[in-house]
Amino acid sequence: MTPIALQQLAQLLNGQLFNTDPHSLDLRKVVNGISIDSRTITRGDLFVAIQGQHFDGHDYIAEAKRKGALAAIVERQTGEYKFPGILVEDTKRALQIIANWHRSNCEALVIGITGSVGKTTTRHMLYQMLSGKYTGCESPQNYNNGIGVPLSLLQMTPEHEFALIEMGSSASGEIDCLAKIAEPEIGILTEIGPAHLDGLGTLDQVVQEKGALLKSISRQGHVFLPWHLYQLPEIRSEIQAKVLTVGVTESCDIAASDITYEQGILRFQVDNYPYEFPASGRHWLNSALICIGLAYELDITPTEILEGLNRFESIPGRCHHIQTKWGLILDDTYNASPLSVRAGLCSLTEVPNVSQRVAVLGDMLGLAESSEAHHRQLGKLVARSRIDFLITYGPQARDFARGAYQGGMSGSRIASFESMKDLLPILNLWATSSSAVLVKGSHAMQMGRIVQELQNRE
Ligand code: ATP
Ligand code: MG
Repeated sequence: MTPIALQQLAQLLNGQLFNTDPHSLDLRKVVNGISIDSRTITRGDLFVAIQGQHFDGHDYIAEAKRKGALAAIVERQTGEYKFPGILVEDTKRALQIIANWHRSNCEALVIGITGSVGKTTTRHMLYQMLSGKYTGCESPQNYNNGIGVPLSLLQMTPEHEFALIEMGSSASGEIDCLAKIAEPEIGILTEIGPAHLDGLGTLDQVVQEKGALLKSISRQGHVFLPWHLYQLPEIRSEIQAKVLTVGVTESCDIAASDITYEQGILRFQVDNYPYEFPASGRHWLNSALICIGLAYELDITPTEILEGLNRFESIPGRCHHIQTKWGLILDDTYNASPLSVRAGLCSLTEVPNVSQRVAVLGDMLGLAESSEAHHRQLGKLVARSRIDFLITYGPQARDFARGAYQGGMSGSRIASFESMKDLLPILNLWATSSSAVLVKGSHAMQMGRIVQELQNRE
């Protein structure tokens, strides 16, 4: 991060310095890096003690000091150790203020990415595309909340020309707050659908929430979004930036035509230029179009775009194809919401030359009172699709089974479980040699264990 002396930092945070000797050089000590995790402290870092759900950073201040931290930002003074600190009301907010200050000292073009699905996919695809020509950084892992966004911004160095910042939300007002911290010049909205409804309420509120990123972009900036979302008045209103829509209709600014998805290769044309690259499914199309649109704005040529798309590989847990001795696993265990389950099922039906298609679906959590309806609807989709067997896991997932049965799928091809131990024998029976198996469920369902079992299978 941009170097800053302790005294200046205290002023920035409106905090109170303590354990600093006014006659020593403490106040002039310069912080070069920040960590909220005492395990990753490097010498000279500032340790920010944040109270989390499971851990309290204040319990690790002594360890941070031992590892060479220069000072700590805290909400309360604890322990007897002599360690320079800055006392603030809210350490998480302090982290955000520092990140915003650092951002204003960096030259990088900051690109904010939000949406109900596809943020990480689009972010990393863009990273592969832009890093062919420019130097930059992207949010690590899935850092996309009130702590993750500041930490992502703090990765920026003076050499960076771009920074891709993922922004997630599970409650109203979060995107607005993250946009104020990151102040992106470009905003990307990937898709909107029912997700985190237990925190956000209704789909209308999801629209409001995601739209906040686009509205935050100034007149000089750009926003990219699918054409169908731009048709929503709540999204359209109050956007000041230049709008670039992506999709398959001719009215889009970046319009794909001649789209095919065969043998795992997505092919399409934009402005008569043919693009093709290995993809997990058709649902990657809009991510690719957003990348193309942004690349055009940044003077990246179609040949370089093509190279960038081909550098991108699916991310584990996100419809990630794993070829095994006995067949194919579609590892979609990272998370699940109705849009991503639909996309996963579609990918499963498009896997060519397989003996059986098996969908193993766990609970989609966070859908509040619409949970049953969404599970049932997708169950009906399973029944309509070229899927041979459905296995459900968890109490809410039983509604996938009910929907599939209502939709005409034979009961002898559906099985529901709440114990992994009972599920595996049936899965092994149904996923015969040359099968394709989609494994998907919300993060908390830990469906990754099923993928592991399938990978270990002879
Ligand atoms: P999170 O909110 O958990 O960070 P995210 O928005 O970053 O999620 P990804 O991690 O990219 O999204 O993908 C989550 C799931 O959504 C994966 O199953 C992925 O295959 C699927 N997905 C990605 N893009 C789309 C899309 N455009 N439409 C539907 N599903 C998608
Ligand atoms: Mg993500």
